[in-house]
Amino acid sequence: MARIRVALVVVGALAATGCATGPVGVASSSAAPDAGSTGSGSSSLAPCGQRVVAIDPGHNPVRIESFDPVTGAAQIDYPNGAEDRNVFSVAQQVQRTLTARGYRVVLLKRSPGESVSYRERVTRAERAGAALAVSIHTSPGVNAVFPQRVGLYRSGAGRGGKPVRIVFTNAATAAASQRYSAAIAAARSKAEGHRVSVRDNNFGGRAPLWAGNIPIISLIATNTPWVYNEFGPAGGTGGSIPVPATALSKYARGIATGIEAALPTRCM
Ligand SMILES: [Zn+2]
Repeated sequence: MARIRVALVVVGALAATGCATGPVGVASSSAAPDAGSTGSGSSSLAPCGQRVVAIDPGHNPVRIESFDPVTGAAQIDYPNGAEDRNVFSVAQQVQRTLTARGYRVVLLKRSPGESVSYRERVTRAERAGAALAVSIHTSPGVNAVFPQRVGLYRSGAGRGGKPVRIVFTNAATAAASQRYSAAIAAARSKAEGHRVSVRDNNFGGRAPLWAGNIPIISLIATNTPWVYNEFGPAGGTGGSIPVPATALSKYARGIATGIEAALPTRCM
């Protein structure tokens, strides 16, 4: 992939509210991509009994636009109003619940005001030895879980402007992510009282975000099974529109219950 040092030219504005699914539109320049890969053939699944879970409380407090030094993917993150504190609150609730049940829980952002790039969050999860990492977001009307799958990708202008396509290729990590995603979606469906689907994302028409179908943080987390959540309860709240505390608590309960189902603390 291209590694020439040229700044990414950013045009356009991000959607005001949601963060999961933008308008469906024409994908950005990704027609003739370089081959790229995030796979390395191994997975950091923890041995039975050692349960470390990483929780990623969405969004960054300041805008970040850079290239991931490992994969070359554009890592663009931005504050999103009420979502920032809403998801941090959910992350803390999940942490409290799971800690009381014997897990070690690492928050990948230590406070709502800490600026941490996607790569730095992935590195923190890896250093902690996380068997599973869970991203927590809200978006109006979107109740979904996005897993890693072999073949999912993001593509766009890399350093120097040359088209780059980065594909997720680690089969072991992807298989674990899909198992955990199914467990979390099932538990969330029950806790939230509506159907939470497991599906791929769609970043088409959301320039300057790269086109494709997997969140960047999940794409670059080659060896850590990642489960990316969006929540938008009835009433149209989520994203920059504050979600009521009762709804956030249901979201937190579903995620914690799902993690327990996916990754029991006791060996079978
Ligand atoms: Zn979000």
